[in-house]
Amino acid sequence: MLRRQPLRDTQELLVLFSPRGRIDCVSRISAKRMGLLEPLTCIRAHLRLGRSLPQLDEVSLDRTYAGLLTDYDRLHWAGYLLNLWLEAFPGEIENNDAYRLLRLSLDSLEAGLRAEWLVSWCELQAMRLLGSAPQLRRCVRCGAEQSLNWFSVAAGGALCSACRGTGARPLADGLRDWLAFLQRANLLRLAAARPGEEVVAQGRELIGAWILYAFPRLERFLKGRA
Ligand SMILES: [Zn+2]
Repeated sequence: MLRRQPLRDTQELLVLFSPRGRIDCVSRISAKRMGLLEPLTCIRAHLRLGRSLPQLDEVSLDRTYAGLLTDYDRLHWAGYLLNLWLEAFPGEIENNDAYRLLRLSLDSLEAGLRAEWLVSWCELQAMRLLGSAPQLRRCVRCGAEQSLNWFSVAAGGALCSACRGTGARPLADGLRDWLAFLQRANLLRLAAARPGEEVVAQGRELIGAWILYAFPRLERFLKGRA
């Protein structure tokens, strides 16, 4: 469940993210059971085709994220990931990988994995699913493998000193290694990682800028804390 919004009468518009992609539906479930229909809740839903939007007929609880709801920082990042999904995977298109990635990421955030690592990892994995993973081992413009000291959010990857141009951000070796690690690591390896605080902060800033370039509407989640 990503979003909930009142309609007229006792109805509500719900936005669900499922293995079949984003589903907008109308709920008439009685108020007594509305506790199940909160954002950040995993439900099993039975939908019936309606005149315009599908109607939620039956619902049962799959899991909640009680830990996230009591921790402002992690709740912020969970809300950010849900909104990233609305931007990145907007349609009702089957995408089991995107659904699994979101569930895994929320589970890991709830389990206490460091939010800054997890969010950066999740963003890079989501961009990979979109076919937009940043190129880090070669210059995106000329293909050079040496002196890759810059990163361009517009070009989507590393730039060599000769191709740097304007607007590129510094990309130190340690930061490039951390980003490359995030791109290929699974969650077990991520949980066992020991990155330096500075490289983690630099990674957040760079990936946050890159995500904002791709999805400007996420600014309210990233501004001042990317
Ligand atoms: Zn180059």
